[in-house]
Amino acid sequence: MKNIFKQIPFRVFIYSDKTLAFFEIKKNYFKIVFFISLFVLLVVSYFFVTNKNYSNIQTFKTENTEIQKLKSEIKNLNTLIDEVSIQNNAFRKMVNLPTLNSETQNGGVGGSSIDNFLFKKPSNLFEDIELMKNKIEIQKQSFTEIEKKYQLNKKMFASFPTLQPMNGIYSSSGFGMRMHPITANSKFHYGLDIVNDVGTKIYAAGGGIVEFAGKHSGYGFMVEINHGYGYKTLYGHCSSILVRERQKVNRGDVIAKCGSTGFSTGSHLHYEVSLNGVKKNPIDFFVDTKN
Ligand SMILES: [Zn+2]
Repeated sequence: MKNIFKQIPFRVFIYSDKTLAFFEIKKNYFKIVFFISLFVLLVVSYFFVTNKNYSNIQTFKTENTEIQKLKSEIKNLNTLIDEVSIQNNAFRKMVNLPTLNSETQNGGVGGSSIDNFLFKKPSNLFEDIELMKNKIEIQKQSFTEIEKKYQLNKKMFASFPTLQPMNGIYSSSGFGMRMHPITANSKFHYGLDIVNDVGTKIYAAGGGIVEFAGKHSGYGFMVEINHGYGYKTLYGHCSSILVRERQKVNRGDVIAKCGSTGFSTGSHLHYEVSLNGVKKNPIDFFVDTKN
């Protein structure tokens, strides 16, 4: 080092205003300047490097906090999805759909273990987010299925013959064996007789399409409604008919008036319900009354 400074191949002179003469800067001076510069450089480098490390540590700490927050959020979201799954299954039961088991709800993957995946590397967290997305997608599809089934059920329930077709006395002649009032023979009575004055309104017991509206030999003026799903209702002995064949009717629509046409002893409605061609007791279907 000593030699290097001695070997500097030039000499430096500075002109002094005070002495009005040049004086030479000794080579030792360069040596001092060099070492001071080196020292300053080292100090600056040290601070630069340590400060960078410090800032890296701070970044890691911040990122770690973010990851912890993310894990916590994933846990919360999974709890939320589980709650939605329970509600989803409750709705499925309500609309008569089979419930989804936990394997299906977890996207076809065995039971989720939140604690397991929370200790995975961040890169795996993204896989778990993907799994969560699958779970949410399954819930979404299930809700669509519930909505469709609900609409179907609504249509089906609107069609069922649940309304009492006329106000009046229901007890005189019910569904079952009875002595026929005209022939006096013991015969099975497949309908329900409801007694009231001529002209009393007769209502469609459920929504459907009028299949027959006209005169029948035994039932006189008669209406038959096809409700779909195998259900039909029949309204006999009417005094007048207010609907035509192939007309769409809703539950509660006035379709005819009470009378005593056909094979009848007095003013009453003969009402029948059949399911897939088998006569059923109408009383078993009554849920609503029209007032
Ligand atoms: Zn009858």
